[in-house]
Amino acid sequence: MSLSLSDFQSFPKAELHRHIDGSVPLAVVQRLALQHGVSAVTLRNGQTISIADTAAFDNFYRITATEPIADLLARFDFVLSLMQTPDGIAEVFHACTLDCASKNIWYVEWTMAPAYHTRAGLAYNAVIDSALRGMRSGWQACGVQSKLILAIQREATARQKPEDARDPAGLELAGAALQHSSSRIAGLGLACDEFAFAPELYAAAFAKTLGSKLGRMPHAGEMGAQRAQNVRSAVSVLGATRIGHGIPVGADRALIALLKQHGVALEANPLSNLLAGFISALEDLRLDELLRAGVCVSINSDDPALFRKELADNFQAVFDVYNWGEAELVQFTKHALASAHMTAQERAACLQLFSNKSGLVLA
Ligand SMILES: [Zn+2]
Repeated sequence: MSLSLSDFQSFPKAELHRHIDGSVPLAVVQRLALQHGVSAVTLRNGQTISIADTAAFDNFYRITATEPIADLLARFDFVLSLMQTPDGIAEVFHACTLDCASKNIWYVEWTMAPAYHTRAGLAYNAVIDSALRGMRSGWQACGVQSKLILAIQREATARQKPEDARDPAGLELAGAALQHSSSRIAGLGLACDEFAFAPELYAAAFAKTLGSKLGRMPHAGEMGAQRAQNVRSAVSVLGATRIGHGIPVGADRALIALLKQHGVALEANPLSNLLAGFISALEDLRLDELLRAGVCVSINSDDPALFRKELADNFQAVFDVYNWGEAELVQFTKHALASAHMTAQERAACLQLFSNKSGLVLA
């Protein structure tokens, strides 16, 4: 029997690839902006949009088609403008954690690029502590467990904000991640512009984390002609423990073998890839082949608030393609929990929670 959207919405889910600045629901952004005294947003063309005008703001606050990267980034930058103080950061993490509970996402690994939160002078540690505070208060309010992936940003040139160009190789961030004592820090990430910034540029930062408790979760194979090579480099040069996107993997036997050889999991982001124009059809990801080959692949939403496609929508879209059912839903959920950055004890507790909530045996 095929599953409906409401089946995916009600099923307990785990998500490993969800950017905090792409996940804030429209109503939350409006509320926080007005609380912070921000009443309007000015576009690149000089047009001003009132935050209180829900229809106009809604139109601004969504990615509808392939568009210039500067326009695309304007949405993220608006959210980031609200996350430059400790309380601003904590509020967004708190609200997004509650949003996950409303969508039955009970475990999430947030991706955050701390450099983008230093525009008003916050140090990395203050940014990280504020995120952890919001995650903790959110967990206390709704029970959603979360961890944090600290991503090196690699598109300072596109944003043209001098503050974003700090720590370009990510060495300071890798140091902050290593020194932080919280077990809620999952690892080091690498996000955004893959066209101009190859994984090798960040080898020194990732090397610092080798042999530590941190995972390595770079985006690779999302965009550009070099995406297959970038997946190879992410594994062999950065020592990736998971790969974000990895679009070419499913159709490439050698890449599948490489990931399996190194025990590297894959975070697929089907509707993000489709809507951003990085694939022309969901079949391009060859998720069927990845499952058959035994790759530990999970389904993720990337930037659900901006694409307006939640994790449940991503499941429904790919399950419709392959006419998959409950067995595959359980399989993808097991993959997400198997490749989540958890201790054995945390994973056992999470599997039990998911089994209880789904009524299925996942452990
Ligand atoms: Zn991403």
